[in-house]
Amino acid sequence: MGQRPDRSLNVVMLGPPGAGKGTQSERFARTHGLPKIATGDILRDAVKAGTAMGRAAGAAMDAGELVSDDVMIGIVGDRLKRPDTKLGFVLDGFPRTVPQANALDAVMDGRGPLVVIDIVVPEEVLLRRLAARRICGSCGVNAPVDWTTSCGKCGGELVHRTDDSDGIVAERLRVYHRQTRPIVEFYGRRPTFRTIDGNLPPDVVTASMDAAIREASAVAGGVRL
Ligand SMILES: [Zn+2]
Repeated sequence: MGQRPDRSLNVVMLGPPGAGKGTQSERFARTHGLPKIATGDILRDAVKAGTAMGRAAGAAMDAGELVSDDVMIGIVGDRLKRPDTKLGFVLDGFPRTVPQANALDAVMDGRGPLVVIDIVVPEEVLLRRLAARRICGSCGVNAPVDWTTSCGKCGGELVHRTDDSDGIVAERLRVYHRQTRPIVEFYGRRPTFRTIDGNLPPDVVTASMDAAIREASAVAGGVRL
């Protein structure tokens, strides 16, 4: 997709655990030369950097609590001020609540349209995928399906995640849907909202996501420019 300097490509990725959101965000960001902003990563960075927001986030996480909307909005807002987001970004894990979505709209004012992608996968497929999901026992990286026995990064042994037992997985999905339904309603009627079938081979999902973002972005450009 050619990027004109007066246009930015701002993407929000929604999708439950096991939908392939991380992989697809990564691929899209790499292909289009955009930063992938995953909330897990930037939270860790903020905590490490010891900023006021980072300390607040660290305290919440240490106490086993959710990081508050104010802190999440502060940390993501700071990240979106960095110059590498000028031509756009791919957001993975934010917004998770309606106040966060409203705050993102405020940040986006004057920065071009927001394309929102919701990757949808049937519940029984998610349960099956999550039960089969493995991580590296040494470095902890999530193992893509094509790693059969050992870690592609460090050679460590692949193991099942301890928090991927059936009951915990089902509960994580319930929590996700409860949290996310209001976000899908928030964005659902916008001309730049697209639902993607995630129950297809990863390369097919990549291609359909690319086409959907291109098309939604063009529609929005026609409206906004
Ligand atoms: Zn490893």
